[in-house]
Amino acid sequence: MNVRHILVPTDFSPFSDLALRVASSLQEKFNARVTVLHVLTPLEADALTAQPGNPWENVVLQIQNAITEEVEKNAPSLPRESVNLEVVVGEPAEEIARFAEENGVDLIVMGTHGRTGLAGILLGSVTVGVIRRTCVPVVVVKCPEKLK
Ligand code: ATP
Ligand code: MN
Repeated sequence: MNVRHILVPTDFSPFSDLALRVASSLQEKFNARVTVLHVLTPLEADALTAQPGNPWENVVLQIQNAITEEVEKNAPSLPRESVNLEVVVGEPAEEIARFAEENGVDLIVMGTHGRTGLAGILLGSVTVGVIRRTCVPVVVVKCPEKLK
């Protein structure tokens, strides 16, 4: 399997932090391109752009800055020129799967859980939704505390 393009969907949770660390080590082995993608729901996007003086371009920049910070913290050895930052609006699982299919992603690395999930549930709804929708292999990561 040739891994040229790795997709890391982030919700800025410790699970996404861990996914970035895993993706970074895979990136090195395969010399792959890495896209880090955050999906805003339409409700979140509306709330952010409703703030005065905060047009959509600003929202995108703010989120891209947050992604850059997360990447620098968790994957400092990832070459900057290998990383793309993407922000889209929609239903997260749908957009993650769509991005993977439309952009020739070879591997998705994401958390078993995210920001809002219950620990008793095996997989969060976004992870389940992505696995359901895509044929791209998905690596799911957990136990961030083990890698501190
Ligand atoms: P739920 O949202 O179902 O209550 P959860 O928050 O624990 O549960 P998920 O939302 O499925 O779990 O998150 C699992 C992984 O999916 C995260 O670690 C992250 O990689 C990805 N993810 C979740 N939400 C988003 C999002 N809005 N944009 C990009 N990636 C996301
Ligand atoms: Mn979630």
